[in-house]
Amino acid sequence: MIKFLPLGGADDIGASCYFLELDGTGILLDCGIHPRKKGREALPDFSLLDNLNLDFVLISHAHQDHIGSLPFLVQKFPHVIITSTVQTKEIAEITLHNAANILKEQFEKDDVITPYSHEEIDLIVKSIRTAEYLEVNEMKGLRHIGKEPVKISFHDAGHILGSAGILIEYEGGKIFYTGDIKFSSQQIMEGAILPDTKVDILITETTYGATDSEHLSTWENESKRFANAANKILNKGGSILVPVFALGKTQEIMALLKDLQDKRALTDVEFYTGGVGREISKLYDRNRYIVNRQFKDMELNEIPQIDLYDVEDYQMFVKKPGIVLASSGMMIENTPSFRLAKFWLNQRNFAIFLVGYVDVDSPGFQILNKNQGETVQLTEFSEPALINCQIERFYFASHSKREELLNMVDVLRPDRVILLHGDFESKSWLGQNILDKYGHIKMHSSEVGSWIII
Ligand SMILES: [Zn+2]
Ligand SMILES: [Zn+2]
Repeated sequence: MIKFLPLGGADDIGASCYFLELDGTGILLDCGIHPRKKGREALPDFSLLDNLNLDFVLISHAHQDHIGSLPFLVQKFPHVIITSTVQTKEIAEITLHNAANILKEQFEKDDVITPYSHEEIDLIVKSIRTAEYLEVNEMKGLRHIGKEPVKISFHDAGHILGSAGILIEYEGGKIFYTGDIKFSSQQIMEGAILPDTKVDILITETTYGATDSEHLSTWENESKRFANAANKILNKGGSILVPVFALGKTQEIMALLKDLQDKRALTDVEFYTGGVGREISKLYDRNRYIVNRQFKDMELNEIPQIDLYDVEDYQMFVKKPGIVLASSGMMIENTPSFRLAKFWLNQRNFAIFLVGYVDVDSPGFQILNKNQGETVQLTEFSEPALINCQIERFYFASHSKREELLNMVDVLRPDRVILLHGDFESKSWLGQNILDKYGHIKMHSSEVGSWIII
């Protein structure tokens, strides 16, 4: 019997965490934290695991919404065996430590959940077992009642360094969990490579299910549009703020800037980066010949860039034009991009270029559809601010277009599809279109706390 229970991340880009039970072996697919919510609200509902048997955790990739709550889970299940790709483990070591500082404040006053320490993270990271792409590992939980063990393998998901879709094989049946998946190449990452097999159950993300694919232009077209728009600003002496996620988008956009510069398509200006993004870039560099990627000889940290930490006065962006890559990508409160945005909004010659996914409740979303001369309220309690700078939106997506997700159904030929990691509209579009095309496929929309039993 197969049992599936979402603990979080069923209908948003949130605390992705899904429990799967195969004849008594309990597996958790991902263990994320909500990127925008705070405190206990941000965690998956671990209480749903009470009275359940959990043996293994499989991590698809190191974004916070897929790994961020792992230390809290380990407090509850100290003996759980965690497995990820080698690169995910390397990234986790950086990002979990970084998140610990932020979470400490959030959980300081919580009387049930205690924040975790850096020592705990060291132990957790050390305990993570790694698997190469395509390597098959056997797992048998303590209460496993079947004869065969469960077999798992990671498949390159093309999303960020180390990202994987997870194939779970058990007694002739196959389940594929996409994690976050991207089929066409980005600047660095090559597209996903699906397992070469028919599956019985497909568990898929639906991030861009509600986004018209015409918006999601090709990487190449967006690069040209980006260069043109950037040159207009830079040539007038203005600076550009590009809010980016520290993991993935920072490296992709940095590589894009370098490529545009090499092609002489971009005005020669200073680049600014900082914090964790720079640390993660080192891992991209170190793994460049190991993973499936483009520009293998290009080293991100060899590209001349000024550390944002060394910028004492924002006036220097006025004096000399530059391009600033700062996290977070959604300009979440108290992050570098949020602080810089406040300064940027005031500057007439400047621009903010949004380049990735933006959650509807984030400050990034507030400025998305605004123009110069309008006012914006970045957060619930902040004063409305006049927008003097230019706002542009680009689609350098690290998730698949909805047609690509439909195409995946063509390739994997599942009998059932479980939809998650997307809002109601996204799941509806994909669900409806799968049904229209393949009437025989059984569809499941997922909901936190609701069992799907097969
Ligand atoms: Zn992701
Ligand atoms: Zn995600």
